[in-house]
Amino acid sequence: MKLAKRLNRLPPYLFVEINQKIAELRARGEDIISFAIGDPDLPTPSHIIEYMCQAAHDPANHRYPETAGLPELRQAIAEWYEERFGVTLDPSKEVLPLIGSKEGIGHIALCFIEPGDLALVPDPGYPPYSLGTILAGGEPYFMPLQEENDFLPDFKAIPDKVASKAKLMWLNYPNNPTGAIASLDLFEQAIHFARKHNLAICHDAAYTEVTFDGYTAPSFLQIAGAKEIGVEFHSLSKTYHMTGWRIGMMVGNADMIRTLFQVKSNLDSGIPQAIQHAAVEALRGSQEHIAERNAIFQRRRDKLVNALNEIGLKARIPKATFYIWAKIPQGYTSIDYAKKLLDEVKIVVTPGIGYGKEGDGYIRFSLTISDDHLEQGMGRLLAWHRRRR
Ligand SMILES: *Cc1c(COP(=O)(O)O)cnc(C)c1O
Repeated sequence: MKLAKRLNRLPPYLFVEINQKIAELRARGEDIISFAIGDPDLPTPSHIIEYMCQAAHDPANHRYPETAGLPELRQAIAEWYEERFGVTLDPSKEVLPLIGSKEGIGHIALCFIEPGDLALVPDPGYPPYSLGTILAGGEPYFMPLQEENDFLPDFKAIPDKVASKAKLMWLNYPNNPTGAIASLDLFEQAIHFARKHNLAICHDAAYTEVTFDGYTAPSFLQIAGAKEIGVEFHSLSKTYHMTGWRIGMMVGNADMIRTLFQVKSNLDSGIPQAIQHAAVEALRGSQEHIAERNAIFQRRRDKLVNALNEIGLKARIPKATFYIWAKIPQGYTSIDYAKKLLDEVKIVVTPGIGYGKEGDGYIRFSLTISDDHLEQGMGRLLAWHRRRR
């Protein structure tokens, strides 16, 4: 076999050792509590499931779907954007359903990136931004997201030479893994920068509906002119607890949508139609569960941040997302610290290095864990801390 060289350019998988350790401990019967899973623990709301079941019985939904998605779904997405953000979209040209937003996030690199091209990627950041770039033959240029800058990129720090070789810029607010939020001002700065250097913006908005303390997250497309220069990726995964059903969307710039459609129509055959119908129901039906869910995550957030601060793992209180990004003591790498917590406390956290070099001073806790496990995990952390004093 002669495998493609591009595979050699993928970074090594860092968690091999930790994952082995977790498997060993579990095999020995140890009760390990994981704070590492970024997937809502609450089920998909039942009215959505009911609708999907009905749609599954209809033979019209047993056939190949269209890559472009059902017109009814594109319409529902456009209506949701209008209602939620006041953003008007043409459902025939400015909306493209995706097989989960990760699918489009990975594939859009094929529309822009050629060997030698750069994409500006946040560090720490969701790995598909850089991995999609690398698989397309390009190079990620990392924009550090630092705590002293509220985990926002500093566009002034990007050298002109880099900006002129860049074709895409990735942004993600509310942010995974830092929990940071961005104001419309940040989006405006990004658009200004992208215009100046003739690059396209991809904003990943997966967490706009997971918010706390009355905060409402904006859409990048709320800025006048955003549609001329970029797109927004969104997803039903986090909003409606639908990660397993695989459905998301890209909205905004019509040329970018047309181009991603061109790539996708040659690679996939769309989203199973029963799931598209379920998505229509999710977007148009009751939105009540969102506030209830956010209240649950907010309560878990407050408990966990308190406990972490008590034991000296400094964490900000995030206004959005279900992640806590905690600073680890000096002298440890994030992998070492995660191993230590696994060995000594029997809890799993995500080492920050998994999201980039800048993440190495941090570990990520996810709030998508049952209240029972959360209490147990916090109890273990507090007891561990008392033993060490
Ligand atoms: C969970 C998540 C997504 C959503 O992915 P889907 O493929 O739509 O399930 C997108 N971006 C980020 C940063 C995420 O954490």
